[in-house]
Amino acid sequence: MKNTAVAKVFQDIADLLELKGENPFKIRAYQRAARAIEHLPKEIEIMLEEGEDLQKIPGVGEAIAKKITELMTTAKLEYYEKLRAEFPEGISTLLDIPGVGPKTAMRLTSELGIKTVDELEKAIQEGKVAKLFRLGDKTAENIRHQIQALRRKDQRIPIGEALPMVEEILEALRPIPGVKNLIAAGSLRRFRETVGDIDLMGTADNPDEVIQVFTQLPQIREVLAQGPTKASVIVPGGLQVDLRLVEHDSFGSLLQYFTGSKEHNICLREKGMKQGLKLSEYGITDRTTEKLEKFDNEEDFYHRLGLQYISPELREARGEIEIAEQGALPRLIQMSDIRGDLHVHSDWSDGHDSIAELATAAKVMGYEYLAITDHSIGLGIARGLNEERLRQQIAEIRKLNEHPEGVHLLTGIEVDIRADGKIDLPEELLAELDIVIAAVHSAMSQSEEQMTRRVLGAIENPHVDVIAHPTCRLLGEREPVAIDLEAVFRAAIKNNKALEINAMPERLDLKDIHIFRARELGVKLILGTDAHSRAQLSFMKFGVGIARRGWCEPEHILNTPPLKEVLAFLHR
Ligand SMILES: [Zn+2]
Ligand SMILES: [Zn+2]
Repeated sequence: MKNTAVAKVFQDIADLLELKGENPFKIRAYQRAARAIEHLPKEIEIMLEEGEDLQKIPGVGEAIAKKITELMTTAKLEYYEKLRAEFPEGISTLLDIPGVGPKTAMRLTSELGIKTVDELEKAIQEGKVAKLFRLGDKTAENIRHQIQALRRKDQRIPIGEALPMVEEILEALRPIPGVKNLIAAGSLRRFRETVGDIDLMGTADNPDEVIQVFTQLPQIREVLAQGPTKASVIVPGGLQVDLRLVEHDSFGSLLQYFTGSKEHNICLREKGMKQGLKLSEYGITDRTTEKLEKFDNEEDFYHRLGLQYISPELREARGEIEIAEQGALPRLIQMSDIRGDLHVHSDWSDGHDSIAELATAAKVMGYEYLAITDHSIGLGIARGLNEERLRQQIAEIRKLNEHPEGVHLLTGIEVDIRADGKIDLPEELLAELDIVIAAVHSAMSQSEEQMTRRVLGAIENPHVDVIAHPTCRLLGEREPVAIDLEAVFRAAIKNNKALEINAMPERLDLKDIHIFRARELGVKLILGTDAHSRAQLSFMKFGVGIARRGWCEPEHILNTPPLKEVLAFLHR
């Protein structure tokens, strides 16, 4: 059983306990465990195999650890089954709607037979809900609003869409005289792959003026609320953006608070408690003297707790607080560490720009090298390279390298891993290339066993250097393929092959927790933008952000050493 399925069980338990009106602490304990399990880099299956203590997972105590073990070993949890049998089906779905309490949910399911949010919306339209509560239309109307809010909240958008929009807003507000520290907090600052509501914050000498300009920006669709220091708006795509202007003295603690994650902040508060300190968005209060200390920056806030500054990408309750206490946090990779891009398409296959144009653009980015990895013909992609054209391309790249206008170019290819695990180009041609990237682009519905065998076949091929976008997911569009990543990681180590962190914002594949696990095991990782144009070389920042969430230092990523070392790895 995978972590996502285990997390779902514990979230359900929390919902059902809420329905029973159980102790809120108990409910919160299950919610917290569910969240921690969902974001755990290592599969619990493997933790158990290796005899690891499940109580190492934040929020998992003895009782929940026992339940997880039961669930993993028997694929069932008696406690959960019994709890579920007490309620009509579908009830926990209704409980997710804010403002729908246990009693209301119970009546909606038992008296109207409603099991889904869609059914509830329909019943409201037909007037059935208003009738049920005999409170007129107000309760029903309120529920309808909450459903809309819930849908907005559910609607997380990829960071690749959110970031440019948010940067545009920030750029419009920053030039206003008196504005300082304007920044996006929340999951965007932590660089999560998708974001929900956006929290902007800053300080200003004249907050009301900033709020005025903000609510009148051309990209604002609707103003939900507006006050002298705070406003909430909706931008295209339905995303909610909140702007808060705060006191300069407390900016550090407020930014820390609104950056989250919730789990990180819970762990931090627990740590503060042991030191006799109470943490809040306003600062740190000494419990004995009741004195409040304010912080205008986050560094001082963390230092006050005896901690190293913790980068936002690490604030996910994955052990960062304990490690910060020892002063041993990783020196995270950053854009300036990147010396080249190792997955790029030119107009020889389905890219837009010529190899020379790509090389010049890479030079502008400050790169030293660039790998040209067009598609091979087997893929059926328009203009995929056959043997003859690949040979021509190799010749052109060698010529370009004699008079380097831009950067050093690596010859390469992105070959398809066929359904049977074979590669569709002859060995002697593959052997000539600097870099061979292999990837799955077809037959994605294979079973986990088939898919794993297929990718392991490619890893074991002596000419393959890298497996690109290993799970093939497309955010919001295509689920990841079924594949045993732990087996892939181990095979990559054994065969000294690299796995890609594909930096395309709709891919981000490997994703953060997989990167974390791969790095922990010692898998070599590369960053590839998969750019199909010069402009897309800038996707590298998304790859770097996700790699930081995986705790990667420069040494974990093959794009950081000088060319000689990269070639040494590829020609091993
Ligand atoms: Zn591909
Ligand atoms: Zn590609």
